[in-house]
Amino acid sequence: MILDVHVHVLGGKSSFPASLPGLGPEFDLGPEALVRQYLDPQGIDQAVLLPLDTHHSHAHGRFIRQEDALAAAHAFPGRFIVFASVDVTACDRADRLRRLVDTGCRGLGEVKYSDMHDPRQYDLYAVCATHGLPVLGHVDPDLTRLEQALKDFPTVNFIAHGVEFWANMSKDAAGTEAYPKGQVAPDNPVEALLSGYGNLYADVSANSGYNALTRDPEYGSVFVRRFARKLLYGTDWPCLRVQRLPPERFGEDGRHLSLLRRLLKNTEDLDQVLGGNLLRLLPN
Ligand SMILES: [Zn+2]
Repeated sequence: MILDVHVHVLGGKSSFPASLPGLGPEFDLGPEALVRQYLDPQGIDQAVLLPLDTHHSHAHGRFIRQEDALAAAHAFPGRFIVFASVDVTACDRADRLRRLVDTGCRGLGEVKYSDMHDPRQYDLYAVCATHGLPVLGHVDPDLTRLEQALKDFPTVNFIAHGVEFWANMSKDAAGTEAYPKGQVAPDNPVEALLSGYGNLYADVSANSGYNALTRDPEYGSVFVRRFARKLLYGTDWPCLRVQRLPPERFGEDGRHLSLLRRLLKNTEDLDQVLGGNLLRLLPN
């Protein structure tokens, strides 16, 4: 069983500015496109739909609203696991999350950037602790704040993701370069956090995760074997690998899947990263 822990939908025609390559209004990036263009051809059984229904929504166009995700789950039964997106600035944030749990949401995310460490977010983490929900977050460069949340909510499982998290794989590269290249020193901050906190996981989606696992091939294969119970397969569909011309859409390009299959020869480890780890993190 293969599960992608990190996808979005646009709920129909994209309203991204035409200047973004591959994301102009002519592209339909709704749930049907997700199933037909990515999940079915690549043999992905289920995907976690991550809405973004917060004060960041404007910055992200029509990206991944809560209602799109819930409607998609109904339209394609058994294909989507829906996480909840709650505006951290809303006074009734905790109640909103409880209501979304009642409608079937099984995690919190994608929590973006500074929201991950906003003190008000702690009200939501408390609900996650009560209901056994994992939190998937785009971590900001300051890992000490992630570490504090890991300490403050030891029963909540956090799934870290994003440029700033993975760039921390090199002590000296953090905060200076989005996709650092070259050799990785062992005992780097990412490794220290993953081994130090039982409630921290990471998804390998997008450019950031892929770059982290490939920048130093020797280290990458040791890293994925060592953390085979902590890493989760994800792509961030419909995001693009814009470094390529023409750009390739994650997931559809099969890039993350074939990398993990290449690095993890042990089928038990591979099964965990491709789905087993996520299944353990989801509430019943
Ligand atoms: Zn994302």
